[in-house]
Amino acid sequence: MSEPPFHPGSPRGLYVRTFGCQMNEYDSLRVQRLLGPLGYVPVSDIGEADVIFLNTCSVREKAEHKVHSFLGSLRRLKKIKPHLKIIAGGCVAQQLGEKLLDRFDHLDMVIGTRGVGSVGLMLQRLQESGGRLVCMPGEENGLPGPGGPEIFPRGGVTAPVTIMQGCNNYCAYCIVPYVRGPERSRPASEILEEIRRLEDSGVREVLLLGQNVNSYGRGLDEKSTFVDLLRRIRTETGIARIRFTTSHPKDLTDELMQCFAEGDTLCKHLHLPVQAGSDRILKRMNRGYTAAGYMEKIRRLRLICPQIALTSDIIVGFPGETEEDFTKTMDLLEEVRFDNLFSFRYSDRPNTSAASFPDKVPPEEAARRLLELQTYQADVTLRKNLAEVGSVRDVLVEGPSRASNGQMTGRTTHNRIINFEAPLSSCGQILGVKISFAYSHSLKGDVIVRPKAQSGRDL
Ligand code: SAM
Ligand code: SF4
Repeated sequence: MSEPPFHPGSPRGLYVRTFGCQMNEYDSLRVQRLLGPLGYVPVSDIGEADVIFLNTCSVREKAEHKVHSFLGSLRRLKKIKPHLKIIAGGCVAQQLGEKLLDRFDHLDMVIGTRGVGSVGLMLQRLQESGGRLVCMPGEENGLPGPGGPEIFPRGGVTAPVTIMQGCNNYCAYCIVPYVRGPERSRPASEILEEIRRLEDSGVREVLLLGQNVNSYGRGLDEKSTFVDLLRRIRTETGIARIRFTTSHPKDLTDELMQCFAEGDTLCKHLHLPVQAGSDRILKRMNRGYTAAGYMEKIRRLRLICPQIALTSDIIVGFPGETEEDFTKTMDLLEEVRFDNLFSFRYSDRPNTSAASFPDKVPPEEAARRLLELQTYQADVTLRKNLAEVGSVRDVLVEGPSRASNGQMTGRTTHNRIINFEAPLSSCGQILGVKISFAYSHSLKGDVIVRPKAQSGRDL
């Protein structure tokens, strides 16, 4: 039976649940933006939803399990509310397609990673047909198109901006190239247009997103490198701060390093996933650099920008990783002393080459290594936070703090979260804050300097 026709003026609730990375968060904002004109209003209470959109992640097995159990938990809601439409998008949807519909008979539609732009059309088809649908566009590039931004900031001070999709690197453990497709970049003119609109609506900081932003621009008609793009954002928009993620060490050039020394707009923080400290493992991972090569880049970067904050990703227990290999990872961590780290236990992912490697590390051994590494890093991170006490940092005020009552929260250029007393009206301003206290994951401070010059142009 098909749905009753939708009457403008009677909004329907849209509940969006996002699993995984910032790229998925960006796509979730796009879904909200694209469904808004069709009368769908975001709701935070799942009970008020007429449509549930699940943006799924399959990068690690654990993330995929979470998606499956969340999907399973929706069965009861669908029974109570039969008109409810449940849609799965993102990487698990791309990977499993129709199989996901077979597995969950209360799921109405599966949309692949390149289908986000068609979500409105597909939802209309779904409502009209009353059946179940699979949408796996192979041709669409999955990027936001020309004609303005597909996301809206909703009074936010910071906003993500996708500059590219997909990846050509085929690291041995990684599912991304299989579920996100080959690398494709968005024209610089569209990115600049989106940033200007975000700026007009009050956004002060943008986070440029891509799986390997360093290789931005390959294949574009309008020639542009990532460095060109950064410089254009700094000179052609008034955005106060730029961040980006993720960079691949093999593609990190001296020219890009130099950008960190060119004024304050580009935040002094680089996320540079190393994954392992053993050359044997890096080779098996197909990462395209050695530990010494990585260290040499870190040394040059610190010469160019001594205060730069560095964070990284590590995988422990990759197939064939011996105790000696793991020690090399720990040695690298000791040498670099990262400001923060995202560390994971290796998990087999479908289609990847590592999934067929025979010499798997026993899970309990991988768990032990992970714990050792995380314990070490927690200490380094806390010490680095403690070293901030007494210093004055420029902080972009993002909004009320979730944790502390009545306080505001913001970030330093080094991407440290800091909470402090300030009026709500300070949202979006850059204030000088003296750090008084350090915790494992955040800082506390007191505002001592009123807003600085608010323009982002510093070239
Ligand atoms: N493009 C980025 C890069 O090159 O590092 C990150 C992509 S991935 C979405 C984020 C992180 O997940 C990776 O850096 C890696 O540490 C981790 N990861 C990816 N596949 C994994 C797997 N099969 N098992 C455990 N961790 C994994
Ligand atoms: Fe995955 Fe490697 Fe591509 Fe990053 S660079 S997305 S880890 S294949």
